[in-house]
Amino acid sequence: MRRRIIIAFILFLIVAFIVACATSPTGRRQLAFFPTSEMNQMGVAAFEQIQEETPRSQDQAKIRYVNCVTDALLAHVPRSHAGLDWNIVLFDDDAVNAFALPGGKMGVYTGLLRVAENQHQLAAVIGHEIGHVIAEHGNERMSTAYATGASLQIVSVLGGERTAQRDRMMGLLGLGAQFGIILPFSRTQEREADIIGLDLMAEAGFNPEESVSLWRNMARASGNGPPEFLSTHPSSDTRIRDLTQHMPRARSAYEKALEGGRRPQCD
Ligand SMILES: [Zn+2]
Repeated sequence: MRRRIIIAFILFLIVAFIVACATSPTGRRQLAFFPTSEMNQMGVAAFEQIQEETPRSQDQAKIRYVNCVTDALLAHVPRSHAGLDWNIVLFDDDAVNAFALPGGKMGVYTGLLRVAENQHQLAAVIGHEIGHVIAEHGNERMSTAYATGASLQIVSVLGGERTAQRDRMMGLLGLGAQFGIILPFSRTQEREADIIGLDLMAEAGFNPEESVSLWRNMARASGNGPPEFLSTHPSSDTRIRDLTQHMPRARSAYEKALEGGRRPQCD
């Protein structure tokens, strides 16, 4: 009897592990404990929270610009995530920052528009953020935290008073610097988001070479104190080397987009 219970328990663990493992768009096995619906709900709650705490930009021309770039990219999101209620808000804040939350909720700060010099560079940042959503990096981070013993009382914490636990949750979801805690994405996740973003921007008709210029600008802007984006998105020569490595594929997708008449004019 006892033995049967133990076997049942082991079987349960095996099944739970299989269910909790997902495969990312680049074919990587990843931990994903939380149901997508729950992750999306958390993303929406966190998005509401940040909108309460940060003013929106009222600059209609800039809002149109950000939406134009985002729409061009979203037209090429894989079917698995095309049905999300994607949404982007331009926040009036000098921080050089952008974020994306599960459920497709994204934010760009006006400060970023000084560093991303043209529509192609902005597409590189937003494409990267879309990459984090498509690859379910929020779920992976939350699951890893959960597996390593952090007790998380998920949604109830998000809507409530500002506490250390709530801020940590926000950080895990992808709102790092905004909530005063630095939780960098892992190198693997960054790389994955870069590659997904690179493919996406090229398919949409943005020049993928500009992604390298963007990261160089970002590094230069960090001369007077690191931009928030870099504190949660460590930039390095490795990142530029990885992008360069994937550039031939992106360039051919870009050429195909141009041939197909995909030439976004957002500037
Ligand atoms: Zn990132």
